[in-house]
Amino acid sequence: MRIVIRGVSVIRRPEEGVIPKADVVIEGRRYAAVVEGGGASGDFDRVIEGEGRLLVPGFVNAHTHLAMTLFRGLADDLPLMRWLEEKIWPAERKLTAEDVYWFSLLGLAEMIRSGTTAFIDMYFFMEEVAQAVEEAGLRALLSYGIIAPTEDRIEPELKKAEAFARAWDGKADGRIRAALSPHAPYTCGPEVWREAVKLARELKVPIHTHLAETKEEVERFRAQHGRSPAQWLEELGVFSVPVIAAHCVHLTEKDMEILAAHAASAVHCPTSNAKLACGIAPVTEMLASGVNVALGTDGAGSAGDLDMVEEMRLAALLAKLKTWDPEALPASEALALATCRGAQALGQGRELGTIEEGRRADGVLVALDRVHMCPGHNPLGDLVYAAHGADVVGVFVDGRPLFLDGELFTLDEEKVIAECRKRARRFR
Ligand SMILES: [Zn+2]
Repeated sequence: MRIVIRGVSVIRRPEEGVIPKADVVIEGRRYAAVVEGGGASGDFDRVIEGEGRLLVPGFVNAHTHLAMTLFRGLADDLPLMRWLEEKIWPAERKLTAEDVYWFSLLGLAEMIRSGTTAFIDMYFFMEEVAQAVEEAGLRALLSYGIIAPTEDRIEPELKKAEAFARAWDGKADGRIRAALSPHAPYTCGPEVWREAVKLARELKVPIHTHLAETKEEVERFRAQHGRSPAQWLEELGVFSVPVIAAHCVHLTEKDMEILAAHAASAVHCPTSNAKLACGIAPVTEMLASGVNVALGTDGAGSAGDLDMVEEMRLAALLAKLKTWDPEALPASEALALATCRGAQALGQGRELGTIEEGRRADGVLVALDRVHMCPGHNPLGDLVYAAHGADVVGVFVDGRPLFLDGELFTLDEEKVIAECRKRARRFR
């Protein structure tokens, strides 16, 4: 299959800015050429009109819980611990595997429509999540979230996580990869972490966890353990494998050094952190310390939606507000968090994250002909400060169109919405 996108504006990599006009050629699963000025020749199976559109690398939503679309709007305006203990955990006890499957499809449709091509997810009933991802055509790093508050839970939880990773790593033509996910340092003891590291090494998979999300959690942890959660994890050897740490709102300088020294990735989730009033993660400081920072929405239950365009904007705005510096996290850096740095967090920094010959053809077409994108002095800035997820008009993963001009090709959206509305009634 040879596809050409004609006369499109392109951002190959965020720091290079915008090429105003190019023909982008996709061959099979990879980008074959970016011809500046246009004029790519040869036979094409499909020609896509790119004029008035901006092609950018696919967004990587580096931390979410896909099936939590079920809890969108169920428990707004609460602090994290009350949100979890009073609303989310009791609701999750009613969840079935089928619920997770359908609400994963709902989340996938939402992600495709707003330009996400890959994501990192931790939850339960992960077989159903993986099944949904396989059908939808996205790329994902998936893991079963281990929560082991008591001794007797440790072995069964680890077994579940291991079985999922063994069954699904590399599946769906390599689009699905597995991780191991002790949920957080405050929900899993040292034995879980040591076993997870051993397993991660054996299976050659990363560890995805939550780190330092709220101030109270970190203070309580320090009082109990005499050190920060990041230091504690380092002492347990957790950073000897690749780590993706969601949130990282309350890190010390030393914590950042630890993450940087071990090439771990932090995932900034600005909407979720703002909505639950957890704080603003020190993104500029982390980047200056050499930490790879990616961007995520977190679950729609705590973030409201899965829109990475909005996430970029909020990341840029909050970084400026936190540092009192309007030059902090400029648009190109915010876009890097959502694309190439997300790809690095996925462990696929050389395959994904930019639009270059030989890379996997994951990409997003954004409409530039909308009223709020006019007059178009700087399409990259407009993408971050003016665009919405709904301005996405095309999405490709591995060279395969998943969405174009309003049509989703892999999912029956009406059926998914009807089924989800019906299932949601049990949770009210
Ligand atoms: Zn989370």
